This record gives sequence, C-alpha cells and structure tokens, in this order.
Amino acid sequence: MTVTEHTKELYSAMGISPEVYDYGNVIAVQLRERFQQIDDIAEYNQLKVLHAMQKNQVSEACLLGTTGYGYNDLGRDTLEAVYADIFHTEDALVRPQITCGTHALALALMSNLRPGDELFSPVGKPYDTLEEVIGIRPSRGSLAEYGVTYRQTDLLEDGSFDYEGIRKSVNEKTRLVTIQRSKGYQTRPTLSVERIGELIRFIKEIKPDVICMVDNCYGEFVEEREPGDVGADLVVGSLIKNPGGGLAPIGGYIAGKKECVENAAFRLTSPGLGKEVGASLGILKDFYQGLFLAPVVTAGALKGAVFAANLYEKLGYAVVPNGSESRHDIIQAVTFGQPEGVIAFCRGIQAAAPVDSHVTPEPWDMPGYDAKVIMAAGAFVSGSSIELSADGPIKPPYAVYFQGGLTWQHARFGILKSLQSLVDAGLVERNALRCNNM
Ligand SMILES: *Cc1c(COP(=O)(O)O)cnc(C)c1O
Repeated sequence: MTVTEHTKELYSAMGISPEVYDYGNVIAVQLRERFQQIDDIAEYNQLKVLHAMQKNQVSEACLLGTTGYGYNDLGRDTLEAVYADIFHTEDALVRPQITCGTHALALALMSNLRPGDELFSPVGKPYDTLEEVIGIRPSRGSLAEYGVTYRQTDLLEDGSFDYEGIRKSVNEKTRLVTIQRSKGYQTRPTLSVERIGELIRFIKEIKPDVICMVDNCYGEFVEEREPGDVGADLVVGSLIKNPGGGLAPIGGYIAGKKECVENAAFRLTSPGLGKEVGASLGILKDFYQGLFLAPVVTAGALKGAVFAANLYEKLGYAVVPNGSESRHDIIQAVTFGQPEGVIAFCRGIQAAAPVDSHVTPEPWDMPGYDAKVIMAAGAFVSGSSIELSADGPIKPPYAVYFQGGLTWQHARFGILKSLQSLVDAGLVERNALRCNNM
C-alpha cells in the first residue's frame, strides 16, 4: 500500500468516511498554488523573526528567567527588543503578567487615556470583551467609570470606511483611535494592513497627535507587513494566538511608540517602576521558541482557514472570507443559520483534538459575552486559539468562528471531522458531497 492509502485507512479508523475524505481531497488538491503563496509569506516572516533574534544577540542566558522583582532580566529585555524590531516599533512590552488579549488591550487603553479624553472606533463595534472594558455595556472599572467617553463610526454596508462619518466623529476630545484588524465575532471583512494604513493616514490628517492603536489579534504574520509599518502608534495582541506559536502558555504584547509603551508599563506594574520590574520566571524559552515557530504555525492555521472556506462554500454555506479572497487574519466564519449546525461543527472540532477529544462541548454563559457560546478546544494551552479551536455564539446568524491548528495536517483533519459531524447529524446530505465532486 502507498502512504496515501495508509493515510486514508487511518482517516477511516478515526471516523472520517470515504465520501468526506475524498471530498476534502479534491479541494486540497485545488488549493496547491494558494498554499504556495502562504508558504512564501511564511518564509519571509521566518527570516524577519530570525533576523531580529540575531541582531539582538539572543543568547542562551536569555532563555533563563528571573524571580522576585525581576531587575535586570536580560531575557525579558532582549525579547522586548526583538518584538520591537519585528513590528518595526520603537519599543515593546511582552510579559507573562499580561494575562490575555483583552488585558493587553485594556492596559494599552487605560494607560494612554485620561479622564475627559474620548476613545474612537472608526471600524464599528469592537470585540465583545472590550465592550465591558470601554463601558459600552456598563461594567465595574470600565473606562466610562473613569470619565473616558466613547464614540464609534460603523463601516459602510459594503465594508468600506465611512470617511464622512469619521471626519465628523473626530473632535477636540479624541485622544485614541482603536482599529480592530480582525473581524472577531462579526461577519464584516478583516482589514488588510494596507487598509489600516489608509485609515491611519486619513485620521492623522484630521488630527495628527491622536494615538492610533491596532488590535492585532489573529493578524500577526499573516502578511509581510504589520500595522507598525503603516503608522500605528500601538500594536497589541495575545501570546496564546499567533505570536506565541502555540508554545507561549500565557502573555500579551504591546508594541509601539516609546512613550505609549512606557505608559502601559507604568500601569501594568506601578508608576515609577514601569518596565524595570516583572520577573519572567521560567517562561522565556517558550516565548522565544514560540515566536520563532510563529510564522510557520500561522501559515498552517491559514491553510486550514482557506481549506474550510472552500469546503463549506462549495456546500452552499456563507463563509467569511470567501474561498478565494485574500487573507488578513486566521479566522474563518461559516454561517449555518441554525444552532444545530454551530453545535455539530464545534463537536467535530473537539473530537479532532489531541487533548480532551472525548468530551462533548455544550453552549454556556461565558463571562464577557452577551449570549451563550459554544467552544471547542482541546488544546495543550488552555483556551489557546492558535491551536485548532472553534467557537460560536448561539445567536443569529448562527455563525461559527473557526481558527488555528498548530499544523496544516491537524487543521485538515479537524475540518474534515467537523464536516463528518454535520453529515452524521443529518445536516449535510451525503449526496451533496458526491455532486460537488463532479
Ligand atoms: C481574541 C481577541 C481579543 C481578546 O483576546 P483574549 O485573549 O481572548 O482576551 C480581542 N480582540 C480580538 C480581535 C480578538 O480576536
């Protein structure tokens, strides 16, 4: 038997029927050229990361950690210089004390805004968990409680910027503009770095001294450029997404203008202490190694997203982005239009996991979200969404948001497993798989 036959046999043993396997295989073959382009970007970004590590002379001593106050933590300070070089910013704060992406964003906002300032989003409603940070949904400790007001301008129907509305919204109080790169839990298009650049240029023409912050979650290493290359003053993300490469067990980063990053450091630790304290404990080796692997891990996740888009699009489901458009983050939305579809999809992803594959996910009331959410995650790092994972709020339009996969091979298996789960639940007809192959 050939290796392909052996593989197909193992797929079968792991619950993937021949129809589902063959259907996926036709799509994977069609995507070869697209995958080559993804690999080309990964090669560029691999060199970018390596170049920054060599330039900053990452040494064996950097991989060790400090304890207590963490004064003179060579590894921590060097890693921050490496991040600043990769993102082409003046400075960076990269810490295990930043507990997640929401925390990193909240930190960047709360440290750079003062009472009386206004925060402005020119790209519509921000990510769900930020609603409580800002105070869109009243919450203890929100920016609103500290006298920071908020304003937003939605994207136009076709996904373009409402330049007219933006011009009207920027006023003398506007201090910080938050631009979310990824669509998050929405079905709007994700912004390319180029479009982010256009938006920043427009806003700076109206008000040059405004701070432009980009929520870069899920966008790192998807393109050659990052928001810092197109004028962002702050670039913020989570280490249990792309830049942690699946190895970082916690953490967030804030890269940007020196003054803005220092503001964040004084808020994270204490006024007067700033970046000087913050022991790295034993975590730095995983931060470095994860960052080193991140371009290739991100490419694997991206291939999975493109594969899923094509697979479900051809079955007639609405997918964002669609099967052929260019990618600016690793999230794939598939709209099922009914809760059963979301649940079956997530159960398939869960069943494909290396950890906890035997458990069955259920929708539940998660803190920070305004509807029940079902989450599939069988990850080495709890909640890590650079690992194969899916989540869907149980509310119309009943879309599932799928992301990650530390390897393309695993992402492929997971997506086939999700399709198998829909077939087994009677939501996708076996016939549909045959007809589409012709
Ligand atoms: C994931 C995410 C966040 C929040 O990150 P957490 O680590 O889940 O707190 C914020 N914004 C966007 C666009 C995200 O994708």
